[in-house]
Amino acid sequence: MSGGNDVIISDSIVNDFVIKEGFSDILLEWYKKSRRILPWREDPSPYHVWLSEIMLQQTRVEAVRDHYLRFVGRLPDIRSLAEAPEDVYLKLWEGLGYYSRARNLHRAARIITEEYGGEMPGTSSALIKLPGIGPYTAAAIASIAFGEASPAVDGNLLRIFARLTRFEGNIRTPDALRAATSFYRERMPEAAAAESSENPCGDFNQALMDLGAVVCLPNAKPDCEGCPLAKHCRAHREMSGMESSLPVRPGPKERKTEYLTVFLIRCGERTAVVKRPAGGLLAGLYEFPNAKGELDDESAVKWLRDHFVEPIRILRTIDAEHVFTHKIWKMRGYEVIADPFTEKDIPYLMADREEILTRYSIPSAFGAYLDML
Ligand code: SF4
Repeated sequence: MSGGNDVIISDSIVNDFVIKEGFSDILLEWYKKSRRILPWREDPSPYHVWLSEIMLQQTRVEAVRDHYLRFVGRLPDIRSLAEAPEDVYLKLWEGLGYYSRARNLHRAARIITEEYGGEMPGTSSALIKLPGIGPYTAAAIASIAFGEASPAVDGNLLRIFARLTRFEGNIRTPDALRAATSFYRERMPEAAAAESSENPCGDFNQALMDLGAVVCLPNAKPDCEGCPLAKHCRAHREMSGMESSLPVRPGPKERKTEYLTVFLIRCGERTAVVKRPAGGLLAGLYEFPNAKGELDDESAVKWLRDHFVEPIRILRTIDAEHVFTHKIWKMRGYEVIADPFTEKDIPYLMADREEILTRYSIPSAFGAYLDML
């Protein structure tokens, strides 16, 4: 199966144990009865599948549901997304995090409009060339929206694969991904399986997604009693009660800690906000003015004066923390009442609460300070 040292199964073991013939029938049958009802499945147009798959990356289904409905309500098709101003689509994305996904969606929508006449290309090999679409998303869209026989292998499918085949190597390796992809590819239904499903390949992938989301759960004990594949699962047969010890993952990477001082600068009803730079973390979103490091009271006053803010009262307020994938922000907060006669000198946008909440996309990293508005 692989030349990697940590891959300790062979094709013959997998194929002898985990059936090939009938594998997809079992899954499709289970999917018909147990599929999750999700808004994007009501009308699986290429745009709907694409948008939902991008939103679902690193985000729970419950968090995506309302955002998805709001997004398609305001931007119902690829053309309207392509024409939307940045502030509009970023505002619709607010709360989902990882804003580069929204930017890539917009860039891809423009390309589809300009180069494909507004019609999404229908193969994974064309989809993967669009911004923000990797191999998993390309296979998911191509199978669900266009019926292509491509397994969409993400963390859920890797986990199911590791348990079904008792794969005890590191799951986060290219070898493991290759092994899982070929395992599923060999088990995808033929188009002729159409009598059990109108879109057997799309349903095959969605059945596995649902199995990973509600049965073969990541950390909690998987519900093997309710699993349609239990009879064919090596982890269940050979390590009963210990199935969740698979897949094997290396320990998490250390996150770097950065310290910030965040200022809520008030002038009457208005509070200062500022746009972040166009590149880098949280690019182009809005934030409360902030300084690197944890400033004490004296340094905070100096920083404010250096930025043309004349404080008449300054209070230490809550400290907050936000965990990103690769770093942690530890934030010290100051609430500053600025001299109203100097408001015109303040080099930030001054906006009232309503305006900040409705017009400016402030990332959840600043959620503790947003709550104080
Ligand atoms: S039997 Fe259990 S471990 Fe195996 S695939 Fe099903 S839920 Fe996962």
